[in-house]
Amino acid sequence: MKMILLGPPGSGKGTQAKMLSERLGVPQISTGDMLRAAVKEGTPMGLKAKAKMEAGGLVPDEVVVGIVKERLLKPDCDKGFILDGFPRTLAQADALKGTLSELNKQLDAVVSLEVDDDAVVGRIAGRRTCRDCGKMYHVEFDAPAVENKCDKCGGELFQRSDDQEETIRKRLEVYAEQTAPLIAYYKNDGILRDVDGMQNISAVQERILSELGCGQ
Ligand code: ADP
Ligand code: ADP
Ligand code: ZN
Repeated sequence: MKMILLGPPGSGKGTQAKMLSERLGVPQISTGDMLRAAVKEGTPMGLKAKAKMEAGGLVPDEVVVGIVKERLLKPDCDKGFILDGFPRTLAQADALKGTLSELNKQLDAVVSLEVDDDAVVGRIAGRRTCRDCGKMYHVEFDAPAVENKCDKCGGELFQRSDDQEETIRKRLEVYAEQTAPLIAYYKNDGILRDVDGMQNISAVQERILSELGCGQ
């Protein structure tokens, strides 16, 4: 399965991508996670990306295109991959097309998670992440058994610095301007699959699997 998860910030891409990755046995490729790792390590790329990410803007196309290309060349992508948070601009979508055709690969599907603005604001505001293993939670919709403690590894949960109210609005504007046009782009390619992302996490997962023809 070679696919993209498309949707506004907070629509559930990361949550669904992790579950799909386990279920389908293909890697999740999250540009947000890779960029955050580069920021944490303080690499030159991380230093360049940091200010843009904190302001809720996009990191330059050539930077993200480069990291995705490098990632797609790794052998674990031979059987497939789930792109989460990439592409985010038409230029990135065109670059991805070029890279995949060089590799003699073709996308199977682009799943578009549809969630309204009020819901994504509530989801992002309540999002918490484990400092140690990266597992994601929501204070209300996907709460850990013990407050602020990861169920999986016991690590401390934290709130991303770009998940504050002001930045969330900026990210939604950027999404509407730069990323939403990709829905029409992939519809035109005939591989777009709309999924109602307003249901609970497991219901959304089942809908995606059935759209992909992988449901039971
Ligand atoms: P979310 O899960 O809320 O959609 P991500 O973790 O995907 O957010 O991304 C966090 C930030 O990282 C973005 O706001 C942006 O600054 C940067 N980023 C991630 N992916 C890309 C991309 N494909 N192109 C440009 N910037 C990106
Ligand atoms: P994205 O990667 O698109 O930014 P996430 O997967 O990080 O979105 O989800 C954002 C927040 O919303 C997280 O706290 C997550 O636990 C929660 N969440 C994800 N899917 C759902 C859902 N279907 N219903 C309610 N909350 C959800
Ligand atoms: Zn953890």
